Amino acid sequence: MRDLALLPKAHLHLHFTGSMRPGTLADLADRHGIRLPAVLLDADPLHVPADERGWFRFQRLYDAARACVRSEDDMRRIVAEAVEDDAAEGSGRLEIQVDPTSYAPFVGGLTPALEIVLDEARRAGEAIGVDVGVVVAASRMRHPLDARTLARLAARHAGDGPGEVVGFGLSNDERRGDTEAFGPAFAIARRAGLAAVPHGGELLGPAHVEEVLDALRPDRLGHGVRSAEDPRVLDRVVDEGVALEVCPASNVSLGVYGADRDVPLRALVAAGARVALGADDPLLFRSRLVAQYETARAVHGFSDAELAALARSSILASRASESVRGRLLAGVDAWLAGDDGEGSGGGATTRSAGHPDAADGPGRAGEPADAEGARVEVRG
Ligand SMILES: [Zn+2]
Repeated sequence: MRDLALLPKAHLHLHFTGSMRPGTLADLADRHGIRLPAVLLDADPLHVPADERGWFRFQRLYDAARACVRSEDDMRRIVAEAVEDDAAEGSGRLEIQVDPTSYAPFVGGLTPALEIVLDEARRAGEAIGVDVGVVVAASRMRHPLDARTLARLAARHAGDGPGEVVGFGLSNDERRGDTEAFGPAFAIARRAGLAAVPHGGELLGPAHVEEVLDALRPDRLGHGVRSAEDPRVLDRVVDEGVALEVCPASNVSLGVYGADRDVPLRALVAAGARVALGADDPLLFRSRLVAQYETARAVHGFSDAELAALARSSILASRASESVRGRLLAGVDAWLAGDDGEGSGGGATTRSAGHPDAADGPGRAGEPADAEGARVEVRG
């Protein structure tokens, strides 16, 4: 069995605060004298029944974590660790998503907040060997004029070089805000050549996906999984070439689906959608990037060739430069051509050592696909 941590891939759906290691969050809370909800440091902060409480609990905990980020050092540490963790999971291209608004008061404004993230993305990316781009995300909870301000800021830093802005997103509770009102912000982003990458189709169904397609003309959808509920909408997603950033652990943790096996990954791929697996918020879902590929393998029965196709799909959906994409795609071919561990030759699939999550990340193979209890254990 080939090691999925060695499969080159692009990671297109990871939030800045949500990328934090639990230990880092504990450190920051300590340093700033903030008392965290104890559950945030628990093994599985979001294990709740499959109803909408998942989202509200998530939002409360996310806000508590975000309140611990209060300085340039904190921000740099989060970016650098996200890049390190991605590197250990075979990600050669990371597009990390940040809404600089909450951090702006601590570092002198929106512009410095974004520039800190961009500078550290470039520095850490070069030092660690991951190509890192940044997605600036506006929030549905704020006024659409704030989104325009962020789009203009993002546009000023647009580019596909290391530590430049590659996309513009819209995050937070899908049920809030008027989607159409965010259209002008996306128009600003598009004119600057940024990818339009709003969230949609996770908490709400296919009608919402269509609303986002019509109003924001996305290049990729954050999630979009629920387009699988209407073949006509899914066809539209495929025909319009909209890639889907699918985050299975997020969907299950938020109660969108009852169990890993209910995430319609197979149906999306079979319909021809370009899927890029992502971790979304590993801090809260306790599940990082490789775990999403492990789920595809262990729960959805993806073969190594199909997993390689998922990795290619993530790379093609990224905004990496042609040369980076070419290098990563060649790496995928080499991974698939290499020893699968069952043949004679060998040693090509040794896991890179020293990754903090190495001990509790993978290990899903062999677990029964329908064991809901296993999910909690694996995330622990
Ligand atoms: Zn997200």
